[in-house]
Amino acid sequence: MSTDPSSDLDEQVAIVTGASSGIGEATAEALASRGASVVLAARRENELDALADNIEADGGTALSVPTDVTAEDDIDALVESTLDAFGSIDILVNNAGVMLLEPVERADRENFRQMVEVNLLGLMNLTHAALPVMQEQGAGHIVNISSTAGRNANANSSGYNATKFGVNAFTEALRQEVTTEGVRTTIIEPGAVDTELPDHIPDDEIKEQLEAGLLDSMTPLQSEDIARAITYAVTQPQHVSVNEMLVRPTDQQR
Ligand code: NDP
Repeated sequence: MSTDPSSDLDEQVAIVTGASSGIGEATAEALASRGASVVLAARRENELDALADNIEADGGTALSVPTDVTAEDDIDALVESTLDAFGSIDILVNNAGVMLLEPVERADRENFRQMVEVNLLGLMNLTHAALPVMQEQGAGHIVNISSTAGRNANANSSGYNATKFGVNAFTEALRQEVTTEGVRTTIIEPGAVDTELPDHIPDDEIKEQLEAGLLDSMTPLQSEDIARAITYAVTQPQHVSVNEMLVRPTDQQR
């Protein structure tokens, strides 16, 4: 294994979903800076292209593949494009997510559907599509972005909680199925991270409460803090499987 941290992911190919902003963008940059060829997936093509240009300008390798993780054709095309360009899939970071917080009684069923389709079903389907490649290689690493909301349920977060609890359950079951084949899994559970995630909350009252809480009562994590945790997990020797990482801002109580 290389002792130079800037090249310890050389020869590795990483798909990162939700790479157009926030944690996904920072993770793609971090993995590329360690030598990985990164495949950038999300819906906003301009943002992906701009990120790919930045990574390439810094000497890295990046491919932008516009992808809606709720569309099975897009998921299959993402895997095929990755294999066509780079020939393997060593790391899959299932990061795409939406957090549409609402109390159940006022919730729009369309928002329930979207959270399940993006946060849970998209992650499951892309894992399903990439897993045979990793099994064939006898190695691979699937990193699934859950949340503190995957451990603790809270009022007004029922749908989001359900998807993140689902991510944890799916990942642990998957781990038991494939770990002896050399395929590693990591659940990442961030606390509050300063990203555009809350911008899409449909309930103004909840959105304001959350934003006020974030700004007034704590110093939130930055996307780079989570990217560092992910980089730690995927740069361990093959015999070390970091299965779960819970990372909160120091002043976040719950
Ligand atoms: P952002 O809103 O910045 O990022 C979300 C990403 O998901 C975007 O790149 C968006 O890209 C992508 N996305 C949304 N819908 C789809 C879709 N249908 N297909 C493909 N990509 C999609 O927020 P974060 O960086 O904070 O969120 C990343 C992950 O981290 C999420 O899973 C979130 O639940 C989790 N998380 C975040 C926390 C926080 O406090 N911010 C705390 C705990 C967990 P595009 O719109 O271009 O498709």
